[in-house]
Amino acid sequence: MSGKRLLAVHAHPDDESSKGAATMAKYVAEGNRVKVVTCTDGCRGDILNPAMDRPGVLENIMAVRKEEMATAAAALGIEHEWLGYADSGLPQGDPLPPLPEGCFALQDSEKVCRELVRVIREFRPHVIVTYDENGGYPHPDHLKVHEVSMLAWAKAGDSDYAPEAGPAWTPLKLYYSHGFILQRMKLLQELLLDRGLPSPYELMIQRWEQNEADVMSRVTTQVECSAYFGQRAAALTAHATQIDPAGAFLASPVEDQQKVWPTEEFELARTRIEADLPEDDLFAGIDDTETLLSSSQGDTRD
Ligand SMILES: [Zn+2]
Repeated sequence: MSGKRLLAVHAHPDDESSKGAATMAKYVAEGNRVKVVTCTDGCRGDILNPAMDRPGVLENIMAVRKEEMATAAAALGIEHEWLGYADSGLPQGDPLPPLPEGCFALQDSEKVCRELVRVIREFRPHVIVTYDENGGYPHPDHLKVHEVSMLAWAKAGDSDYAPEAGPAWTPLKLYYSHGFILQRMKLLQELLLDRGLPSPYELMIQRWEQNEADVMSRVTTQVECSAYFGQRAAALTAHATQIDPAGAFLASPVEDQQKVWPTEEFELARTRIEADLPEDDLFAGIDDTETLLSSSQGDTRD
C-alpha cells in the first residue's frame, strides 16, 4: 500500500508525537506521504521536563518549540506546516480565567476552516486524522481542532466553497486518534512495578477510571506499527521542553511497548467509501474507489 496521502491536524507542537506518531512513520516508510498541520505555536505550553526548566528556555520558547518540532518531524519522516495561531493555554483555577485575547480557541471557526481547506486542497489527502468531540482531552485548542477539522472535511470538496483556497478535493475517510487506552497503561504499569520501578501511569489511570468512558469501545481501527515505536520515542524526546523522560509517554522502554501493545488506535468517524470494520489500515478500501471519487470532486456526500 503506497502512494497515498494522510493529513493529521494537531493543536500543539508535540501532539503529533503522542497521538498516532508510529502509524505516521509506518505509512511514510511504506511510500506514502504524511503531513501534519499544527494549528498553534505552542507558546503557552508549560515546561514539563525539569531538565529543561533553566534560564534561556522560557524566554525563547517560540524558537525552542520550532526547533523541537522540526526535529520531531524529521524523526517521523513527515512533512509539516504551521497555521501559526497563538496557543490558548490550558485554563486552570476556580473560576477559570478567561482565554487570552486573540488565541486560537477564540478564532472565528469559519476563518480557520478556510485555511484548513487550503491545506487540504494543496496536499490532497485521502485520509484525515483529527481529535474526537472531547478533543482527546478538554483543552480549548483541541476542541477547536475538532470543530474546524469537521467543517473542513465537509467543505473541502465543494467547489463553490472558498474558490480562492484552490481546486476542490474530497478526502475519503476521517479518523479520530485515541491515545489514552486504559488497558495499555495498566499493562505497561504492571511491567514497571514488577521490576520495582516507579509508575508514572497511576494518576492517569485513576483519573480515567473515574471520569472517562473506555475509549476502546469506540476504536474501529488498530494499526500494527510496533516497528516504528523507536521513531515515536525519538519524536517525543525531541519535544524536550514538553515531555518528561520519566513521564507516561517515555517511561516504558520501547521493547515493553512493543510487547504489550503493538498497535495504535483510531476511530473511523466519517467515510465516503464503504468500510469493513474493524480494520487494521487507515487506507483500507481506498485503492478501488480513489480514481472514481477523484473524478467527481465536487461531490461531498457523507
Ligand atoms: Zn495539545
